[in-house]
Amino acid sequence: MSYEGIKSVLEDHEECYLCGSSDRSLMGYYRNFDTIGLISLNDWYVVDFGLKEYDDQGNPLKSDDAHTFTQMTNTGEVFLMTSGSPDRGMASVDVSLPEDYRPDTQMLQEHLCQTCLDKITDSLKTSKWKYEKKQAIPLCLVDFKTLEIYSLQDGHVGCSIRDYWVDMEYDGEKVEIHAYYLPRRE
Ligand SMILES: [Zn+2]
Repeated sequence: MSYEGIKSVLEDHEECYLCGSSDRSLMGYYRNFDTIGLISLNDWYVVDFGLKEYDDQGNPLKSDDAHTFTQMTNTGEVFLMTSGSPDRGMASVDVSLPEDYRPDTQMLQEHLCQTCLDKITDSLKTSKWKYEKKQAIPLCLVDFKTLEIYSLQDGHVGCSIRDYWVDMEYDGEKVEIHAYYLPRRE
């Protein structure tokens, strides 16, 4: 299955789930963050890795105190376990996908403008072997600051996003993602 060339049917670009200000997308809130996250594409559930902490207005919090957090979420589509230590700049997200996962292209066409749809479909390219029938994983990474999208298809073992490093492991319906904040030494 190729996702290239699919067309957006979204009429009002303001309602785009990625670059617009739809009430049904949390991107408008996360865009204030200087961090990265993950998007579960089929239900557009946006997860912040929690590498830096912010208050409700999106202002950075000083995190001098050492603490870790763990959060479990079942979106109905995916099960997520997020954990991290913001003061150390490390976090991980374990995603369990449904057994017959595949990207819901209709949902994406309806809620993304063409520019954003192209970014997402680009990220869905899979390395497919000849005799293997494989669906794209309905997940991607997002840089909240630039709105760039990074692939979470298997075959990718790691990726660098500005001051962040993300690596991933795949096992059937499970994807384990580790993210680190690694700023340059001053
Ligand atoms: Zn858009």
